[in-house]
Amino acid sequence: MDKFYECAEKLLKEGHAYICSCRQEDFKELRFQGKECQCRYHLAEKNLELWSEMAKAKEGSYVLRLKGHMQSQNTTLRDPTLMRIIEQPHPRTKKKYRLWPNYDFENAVMDGMEGITHRLRSKEFELRAELQGLIQTMLGFKQTHLYHFARFNLEGVESSGRIIRDLIKNKKLLGWDDPSLTTIVALKRRGFTPDAIKEFVLSTGITKTESTLTWDDLIAHNRRILDSKCNRYFFIEKPKAIKVENAPEQNVEIKLHPEFAERGVRKFKAKDEYYVAEKDFKEFKDEKLYRLMDCLNFTKKKHSFFFDSLEYEKYKAHGDKIIHWLPKEEDTTNVEILMPDKKTISGIAEHGVKDIKEGDIVQFARFGFCRLDKKEKAKLLFWFTHD
Ligand SMILES: [Zn+2]
Repeated sequence: MDKFYECAEKLLKEGHAYICSCRQEDFKELRFQGKECQCRYHLAEKNLELWSEMAKAKEGSYVLRLKGHMQSQNTTLRDPTLMRIIEQPHPRTKKKYRLWPNYDFENAVMDGMEGITHRLRSKEFELRAELQGLIQTMLGFKQTHLYHFARFNLEGVESSGRIIRDLIKNKKLLGWDDPSLTTIVALKRRGFTPDAIKEFVLSTGITKTESTLTWDDLIAHNRRILDSKCNRYFFIEKPKAIKVENAPEQNVEIKLHPEFAERGVRKFKAKDEYYVAEKDFKEFKDEKLYRLMDCLNFTKKKHSFFFDSLEYEKYKAHGDKIIHWLPKEEDTTNVEILMPDKKTISGIAEHGVKDIKEGDIVQFARFGFCRLDKKEKAKLLFWFTHD
């Protein structure tokens, strides 16, 4: 604050600013007509005198004004207010200061003092750039380079801090990291990688046209990155047990990632009883050929399931759907997945997921990418990234 006072005095001494006691409405009219007010002609000495008086005067009686250009096409340059009197005590400094800088003065002085070289900001401030540059020049600061661009919105996502704060307060959102939001904390917790966010932002371009993008635009970048990075596992939503008659006993090995054999395999002891997802179970139709992924082919007849063959080729020629599965006899892990709409999906995952660490992202086959948020004794809690 003391620095602002120093800057104000410097401007007054050098004739770049003056103390104006015109009524607000009167000055507004002058500004509209492009005419100077009488206060503008005070000498520096008189201005400094009024400056001390202003420090004690009541709110609204004086303002500090920049000596700008009253006829400028850019109306922000028409002798704008730099500082005004505010009598209400400040929450932190209480009554210590009564004269406060406005937005333009604050921006120009702070950036000048801090040596800010570049500022990136949204385009609604574009008109003020010339004014802030002028203030910096008058005060002997280097001008900050300004880049203005339009904001972009993501369809259906709340991005106003004020509204988000209210929704959190009213418990409509879990917090700043609510999975429906695009805050950095929310994206991080769901499993969006920094590179994907960077690529997404770069792909939108820096323009002055407002645009609305969709989640899919962002997801496409993240999926490309996660696809090779994340290992695959089986997760069975609402498990249903089925028995496949005559199925042979097998040791099934499935790669953690189909393209990277070096990452190792998951091993299953498969017999004739399996868990499948309720959704798949409901869609089984009589006489159709189905395949348990990398395991065997079977058919359904009435309420029973029958082993058909092992070869993928046979399925490929006649099959209807490949589904993921887990052997019923083996250990499984309880899993809960928090979806972006805050609903929770529960089910079981293969035993191997016990080895992954909090923060790791995996791909559950035919379900989607999920980030392990928390390991509890009885279950693993994931956040859904995207499919
Ligand atoms: Zn005046």
